[in-house]
Amino acid sequence: ALTADYIRSHIRTVPDWPAPGVQFRDITPLLQNPKVFRVLIDEFVHRWFDLKPDAVAGLDARGFILGAVVAYELNVGFVPIRKKGKLPYTTVEESYELEYGSATVEMHTDAVKPGDRVVLIDDLIATGGTMTAGLRLLQKLGAEVIEGAAIVDLPELGGSRRIRDAGLPLFTLVDYD
Ligand code: 5GP
Repeated sequence: ALTADYIRSHIRTVPDWPAPGVQFRDITPLLQNPKVFRVLIDEFVHRWFDLKPDAVAGLDARGFILGAVVAYELNVGFVPIRKKGKLPYTTVEESYELEYGSATVEMHTDAVKPGDRVVLIDDLIATGGTMTAGLRLLQKLGAEVIEGAAIVDLPELGGSRRIRDAGLPLFTLVDYD
């Protein structure tokens, strides 16, 4: 709880961004402060140190910042799951519904091998759409996704429940109602 409170105290809430009524949870102060950044990264590294996944997959774009450092510390490879149209080689893709319209994420077809044990990381879980799309992508290539993780969960939006219902254990550090 001490660690969670320390991390929470370095998340900034920006009202009415990117749209009126939205309370955006801004994680950049966590990255800016070297002490809290280390505490944050160590939470994920210690969580997975003994499990030792084969790879860490990160969701575009803040999941890249966290995932790459965690992968480096675990001495495993990093896999970016990107918004459609950014990856140069052959890809697999998954679409998911947004409040207005839909979004598509992509991953290179050789990013993971069948049977690889992978953890999937992002900064925040809202509706859970992004993480479940990432889960389906990794599963399409035959990977075993052992856990999803994020700094922040917004449980009232139901995303963390949806992710766990899809069969993915989920680890988060801070909740906001
Ligand atoms: P979901 O797909 O679960 O509805 O939305 C989560 C995705 O949207 C994540 O990739 C996350 O980066 C982004 N996101 C949505 N709301 C916020 C927010 O308040 N703060 C941050 N940092 N990211 C958000």
